[in-house]
Amino acid sequence: MQPLRDERFSWQTEEPRGAALDATADGQAAAAQLWSAALAALQGQVTRPIYETYLRETAGVRLSSDTLAVAAPSDFITEWLNRKLRPVVLRTLAELAGRPLDVTFEVAGVRSVAPAGAPEPATPAPHPPAEQVAAPSAAYVPPRLNERYTFETFVEGDNNRLAFAACQAAVEHPGERYNPIFIYGGVGLGKTHLLHAMGHALLARGMRVIYVTSEQFTNDFVTMIREGASDEFRARYRSADLLLIDDIQFIAGKEGTMEEFFHTFNDLHAHGRQIVLTSDQPPKKVTGLQDRLISRFEWGLIADIQPPSAEMRLAILQRKARALGRYVPEEVLAFIADRIRDNVRELEGSLNRVHAYAELLDAPITLELAQKALGELPAAPRRRPPLPEEVLEAVALYYQVRPAQLAGKGREQRVAHARQVAMYLLREDAGLALVEIGRILGKRDHTTVLYGCKKVEEQRLLDAGLRAQLADIRAALARAAS
Ligand code: ADP
Ligand code: MG
Repeated sequence: MQPLRDERFSWQTEEPRGAALDATADGQAAAAQLWSAALAALQGQVTRPIYETYLRETAGVRLSSDTLAVAAPSDFITEWLNRKLRPVVLRTLAELAGRPLDVTFEVAGVRSVAPAGAPEPATPAPHPPAEQVAAPSAAYVPPRLNERYTFETFVEGDNNRLAFAACQAAVEHPGERYNPIFIYGGVGLGKTHLLHAMGHALLARGMRVIYVTSEQFTNDFVTMIREGASDEFRARYRSADLLLIDDIQFIAGKEGTMEEFFHTFNDLHAHGRQIVLTSDQPPKKVTGLQDRLISRFEWGLIADIQPPSAEMRLAILQRKARALGRYVPEEVLAFIADRIRDNVRELEGSLNRVHAYAELLDAPITLELAQKALGELPAAPRRRPPLPEEVLEAVALYYQVRPAQLAGKGREQRVAHARQVAMYLLREDAGLALVEIGRILGKRDHTTVLYGCKKVEEQRLLDAGLRAQLADIRAALARAAS
């Protein structure tokens, strides 16, 4: 792309004009122009749905010597842009401006703090400052939350029961039961959905809810430092009745932000305000997180969300199909549930795709149509079930026992546990019959095998550690099968 050279575009000034530009009408106009040029260029680089969903409603709001601030309508969009589109945006901006520029994404209207560098108006503003907007309480802007993410639309299952119950309890008695609540789990498993559900519930009761990703918290913190607006920052965060911080793991390693967050946390906690955090890992496993934060996160309740079982995936799809208001045959739902196993977002995405395809063809949804619609996806490797010997080997390796010990008579606890896990996986994943499993595992009776399978099944529901073990072993099996 040729850098545009046009005198009208003040973002092309050769000499940086310093951060003061930030606050001037000039800076705003330049930001708006630069971003519209970037949007035009980006339109050619992303698909239309992406453009429509994430870019159309964004606007350039401020431009300093090295950073363009872009406002978007919601947290979702800023989060997504940050995560997915940042490199493309940076490249585009550099090409347009002819120099490297950083970009920050913020939710429109949330940045209510006046930049410190802004020149004071020489004469009193034409609008009388009658309504005392300076009071920190007036600066509160409720977060924009996804309408769909409510408790009602959340499907409860064995994989998320504790997290779901904790969030509901916290909404009933904010700050009183479990504080903080720390929810962790993989991508697309409903963490953000639960945070928004809590937000909706308390907003409806007139409480102050603050929802940010840890990246936004960091951005706010950096802005606060740059602009010397610590009072505003603290007034804002410490006024929350409910503070929801999504993906707290991204705060790790950022010492200044962690320090500030530590004080925010303590202040809110001391005043009995509810704090809920999500992460991809339990606190101890987030590398770069300060120990004192880890210990605080462990004060309250830690709940994990696991990938959904086959049953749960089907239940979610049924619910979503009903919400689409369209008849989707059971076998189609089963087909989708079987393809996508560990991410609810992708599960939904597949159903939407089938739905869209049917609309396009103006045809009823059938298994054949679903296969066609999803067949266009980059071929999802159809995993074959693991072979019995692969299961034995993976289990033995994981628990550090010899495969022969699994078939042996040893009753040592570690070996016995590994053996029961092997029974469970041979049945669930390799699809062997109880009698066959007994034969492989040292001529054991099928009732012994059934007992072992049941035990793992039951323990699994109560014990996150065991679920993690199963997930790890299954991941190893999936690698072996692909
Ligand atoms: P995470 O924050 O864990 O990555 P999200 O909360 O963004 O995941 O969820 C991804 C998508 O899956 C969202 O559209 C959400 O509504 C949906 N989803 C996840 N879990 C459930 C559930 N248990 N019931 C209904 N929808 C769910
Ligand atoms: Mg999320």
